[in-house]
Amino acid sequence: MPTCPTCHQSVDSQAIVCPFCRTPLKAHGHPGIPLYRAEGKAYLCQSCTYEADNTCNYPQRPYAKECTLYQDVNAVAVAPPRRHRSTGLRFKGNEGWWILAGLGTVSLLIAFSNR
Ligand code: SF4
Ligand SMILES: [Zn+2]
Repeated sequence: MPTCPTCHQSVDSQAIVCPFCRTPLKAHGHPGIPLYRAEGKAYLCQSCTYEADNTCNYPQRPYAKECTLYQDVNAVAVAPPRRHRSTGLRFKGNEGWWILAGLGTVSLLIAFSNR
């Protein structure tokens, strides 16, 4: 049974709050949030995205056998390119800045040509 990180009392693995000291418990298996479990001798962290990109600060890293945040590094989907709703054109995300820069350039040209 897992223990509370604050008061070290045994708490239910599905508890979202420690019944003794009321500490919110995030790392345990909440209802509706899957708790991933390692199979065999492997550790979850070995194949986790957050180990690979070095963003995990869970204390059980790199030897987690159970984790709610685990994300399989091989299963991360590549997001499809965004498309403009009406035109269907593909954008890379910085088109707004290019439009603004173009408008700025045009207004500068107009301002200087009217001098
Ligand atoms: S999120 Fe969990 S499985 Fe992934 S590196 Fe951190 S502790 Fe390991
Ligand atoms: Zn507690």
